[in-house]
Amino acid sequence: MNPTYVQVAVNIPQVSGVFDYHVPEDLGGEIVPGCLVVVPFGSRQVQGVVLRQVDQPQVADTRPVNALIDFEPVLTPIQLRFAQWLAERTLSPLSTCIDLMVPPGLSQQADMLYHLNDAQLSDPARLNDVQKRTIALLQERGDLRGRQLEAAFPRRNWKPAVQALVRMGVLMTRPVLLPPQVQPKMARNVQLAIPADQVGQQDALLGRAGSQAFERRQRALRTLADEPGVVDVTWVYAASGSSLADLKYLAERGLVRLGESEVIRDPLRNLTWAPAEAPPLTLAQQKVWEEIHRAVHTSAQGKASPPFLLHGVTGSGKTEMYLLAVEETLRQGRQAIVLVPEISLTPQTVRRFQARFPGKVGLIHSRLSQGERYDTWRRARAGLLQVIVGPRSALFSPLPNVGLIVVDECHDESYYQAESAPHYNAVAAAVAMAREAGAVVMLGTATPDVSLMYGFQLAKWKVLHLPDRILAHREAVRAQMNQFGLQEPVMDGSEATASLPLPPVKIVDMRLELKMGNRSIFSRELTSALEETLAAKQQAILFLNRRGSASYVFCRDCGAVLRCPRCDLPLTYHRGEDMLICHTCGYRRKMPNKCPMCASEHIRQYGMGTEKVEQLLKERFPHAQVLRYDAETTAGKNAHDLLLNLFANHQADILIGTQMLTKGLDLPLVTLVGVILADVGLNFPDYRAAERTFQLLTQVAGRAGRSPLGGRVVLQTFQPKHYAILTAARHDYQAFYAEELAQRRRLRQPPFTRFVRLLYRDLKAAAAEESAQEMARQLRGWIAAGNYKQTDLIGPVPCYFNRLNGYYRWQIIVRGPDPAGLLRGRSLGDWVVEVDPPNTL
Ligand code: ADP
Ligand code: ZN
Ligand code: ZN
Repeated sequence: MNPTYVQVAVNIPQVSGVFDYHVPEDLGGEIVPGCLVVVPFGSRQVQGVVLRQVDQPQVADTRPVNALIDFEPVLTPIQLRFAQWLAERTLSPLSTCIDLMVPPGLSQQADMLYHLNDAQLSDPARLNDVQKRTIALLQERGDLRGRQLEAAFPRRNWKPAVQALVRMGVLMTRPVLLPPQVQPKMARNVQLAIPADQVGQQDALLGRAGSQAFERRQRALRTLADEPGVVDVTWVYAASGSSLADLKYLAERGLVRLGESEVIRDPLRNLTWAPAEAPPLTLAQQKVWEEIHRAVHTSAQGKASPPFLLHGVTGSGKTEMYLLAVEETLRQGRQAIVLVPEISLTPQTVRRFQARFPGKVGLIHSRLSQGERYDTWRRARAGLLQVIVGPRSALFSPLPNVGLIVVDECHDESYYQAESAPHYNAVAAAVAMAREAGAVVMLGTATPDVSLMYGFQLAKWKVLHLPDRILAHREAVRAQMNQFGLQEPVMDGSEATASLPLPPVKIVDMRLELKMGNRSIFSRELTSALEETLAAKQQAILFLNRRGSASYVFCRDCGAVLRCPRCDLPLTYHRGEDMLICHTCGYRRKMPNKCPMCASEHIRQYGMGTEKVEQLLKERFPHAQVLRYDAETTAGKNAHDLLLNLFANHQADILIGTQMLTKGLDLPLVTLVGVILADVGLNFPDYRAAERTFQLLTQVAGRAGRSPLGGRVVLQTFQPKHYAILTAARHDYQAFYAEELAQRRRLRQPPFTRFVRLLYRDLKAAAAEESAQEMARQLRGWIAAGNYKQTDLIGPVPCYFNRLNGYYRWQIIVRGPDPAGLLRGRSLGDWVVEVDPPNTL
C-alpha cells in the first residue's frame, strides 16, 4: 500500500512554513486534516496541526508523523481556512494563528531548556539586570524552560540578554517538547454489586464486628442501598463517613463496583438562573428583527448573508435582538458565538443568556482554570454547547456548525490583540470567520468606529438602527424607592416599553471657572448638581479619564494645548529631560514658561488620579459615601461585582471610576454623571484620539438616567468647542462621523489609507534608533523598487510610550492603499508588525 503524506504546520514561533511527513501504518486512517500531531523537526520533537493530505510530498525523503495527540481533529475544516485567512491578514506565521484555536494546555510549543553551565565565564560587572537575574534563578531553581523564564520576566524582551549568555558559554540549551498539561478530569463512582435487599446479610464480610471500620463499611452499603444506580464516591464518603479504602475493601469482596466517569468542569455550575421569556418587541426592534430573521434563514439554507451593523444607543434593546437571533439559529440546528468585552462579562450579562438558553451556554473568560477552558472547548467540539459567550478568544471555539456570530460593543478596543502575535482585530476576524462558515454576523454598538461605518457604506452592507432607549426600569426603581423609604417618582407613559429621552448634557467651560476664581476640580455646575443628587437620595458617577492624563501640556487660561508646529498633534512632556517631543516627526522643544497663545503662566501638564478625586470629594461632601472603582480597587477576584453590587444596593452615593466603568452597567438610581475633564483623551498624539473621546463620552453619558428617574450629564472641559465634545454632548453620531471622516480624508488617515505599524524594542536607546533607521532605509528601497507611488512612511520616531519596561521603543508607520502588500513574504526579524492597529501609541 502506498504511504499517505500530510502537510503539517509546525508549532514553533518564527517558523512560518509547512512541512510534509508520511503517516506510519499504525496511524493510517486516523490522521485527517485538523489533527494535532507530534512530528520530528530538525533534532527535536514538535507539535503541529495537519493541514491536508498530499499525493506527492515536496521532498523525496519524508520523515514519519510520530504520534497523534487527540484522536479527534482539534480544528474544524472551517477553522483551518480561517487560520489561513488570519495569517495572510496579520502577516503572522500560520502556526501562531492555528495556536489560537488549540486550547491552552493541549497546545505545546516546542521549548528550550536552559541550563546553567558555568557562571564564572561571565564578568558580573558587565551583566545587565536580566542576565544577573537569570543566573540567580537557575542557581536557585535548577534548569528552567523558556516559558518559565517568560513568566519570570513578564512583558520584557528577555531573549537577547539570555542568548548573549548562551554565546558566552554561561548557559547551555536543549530543545524540549512537553506532554500536554490538561487531561479530561475523571471522577470515581460506585454502585452496589448485590441486590439492595441483601445488604443486611453481609456482616460477615465487613471485618471485625463492632470495629470502626466495620461500622463505616456497613453504613456505606446502606447508603448505596438507598441510592439505586451509580453515585459519586464523594457523596458516599459524605453520607457514611467511609473512605476510598473502605470502598476498595467492599469491591474486593464483590459487594460494590467502583468505576470512573468523566466530570465536566463547568464555570457556570454555581450560577443560578431563572428561565426568561422574550418580551414583546418595540416597533424599532420589529424592523430590525425582520432583517435578521430573514438572514438567519437564508444562511441556514447555505446562502451567503452580508454582515449587519446594529447601531443603537445603550439600553435600546440590542441584546434582546442578539438573544432572538441566537434562539432562531439554534432552532435551525446551528450554533452561535457571542463576543463581549471581557469587562462586561458580568454575572448580569451571563445570566441573561443563561436564563434564555439554560444548559446550552458555555462561558469563556480569562479567570477560567486551564481545565475549565479545556472542558468547555471539548463540549463545544462535541456539539454539546450551542452558545459560546466570551471575549475575543471565544471566536476560536470549535463549534461544528456555526450559524451566528455576535460582536457586542464592537467598538471596544479589547477586541484587538495587542499583547502578542498574531495582532488581530476580532471584529474583522468575526466577519471573515462568518464568511468561511456561512454564518450571520451582527456587530452591535452605540458608537461604531468611523472606519467600520465607512466600510459598511462602501460595501453597501446593512446598518440597522435602534434609536430609542427602552424604559425598562419602572419596577426596579419602584422597588428600590420603597426599599429606601423614598417617595415614588411620577412616571409618565403607561407601557413598560415607553421610550426614554437621552439625558441632557451640560458642557462646562473650565477656563471660565478659573477666571471666576474657582480653582477646584469641581465646577460650580457640577458641585450644585452633586448637592441636588445627594439631597434627593439618588446616585452619581464621576468619571475620570486616566490614560495619558499627565503627558500633555496646556494653558489653563486659554485652553491652548501645545502642539507640534509640523504635525499639529499634541506634544508629549518628558519629565526627565524637561522637553516636549512630537511622537510623529520627532520635533523637540524646551518646556516654555509662558503660554505661546496668551502669555499666561498657568501652563502645565494635567495629572489627577482617582485617589485625589476621592480625597477632594470627601473634603467637599463629608457626608457622602464615596466608592472608588479603578484598577487598584478592582484587582481582587470578584472585586468588580462586589463593588458594583455595593453601589447598586445604594451603599454608596458617589462612584468614582475610570474607563472600566463605561461597560454593561445598569443602575437605575444613577441620575448624574460628571466627567471631570472630558478633553484628556483628545490630546493623545494618535489618529483615533477624537474618535476614542467621542466614544467614551457617549458611553459615559449613557450611564445616566437609564430609568424613569431621568438623569443628566456634566462634561467639564478646557476645549468646549471641540467637535468630539460638542457632538457627544448632543448624542449626535452622524455629525461626529461626518466631521471626523472629513478630517481623516484631509490628513490621509484610515479609512482613506491603511496603516501598518512596525515597532522595535531595544535595551539601548542608540541601538533602537539605529535599527529603526536601518529598517526605514530598507522600506524606502522596497517602496521605490516596487513603484508603490501612494505609499509612504511616518517615522521612524520614538513611540509615544517611548520607554516601557526598560525598553526603548521606536516605530515606523507604513501608510498607503495596501501597506501589508509591501511587507508580505519579507522577513522582518524582531520587528513587531501590526496591520490596521487601533492605536499607534
Ligand atoms: P442594549 O443591549 O442596547 O443596551 P438591552 O437589550 O439590554 O439594550 O435593553 C435594555 C433594557 O430594556 C433591558 O433591561 C431589557 O431587558 C429591556 N428591553 C429590551 N427590549 C425590550 C422590550 N421589547 N420590551 C421590554 N423591555 C425590553
Ligand atoms: Zn494660554
Ligand atoms: Zn511633529
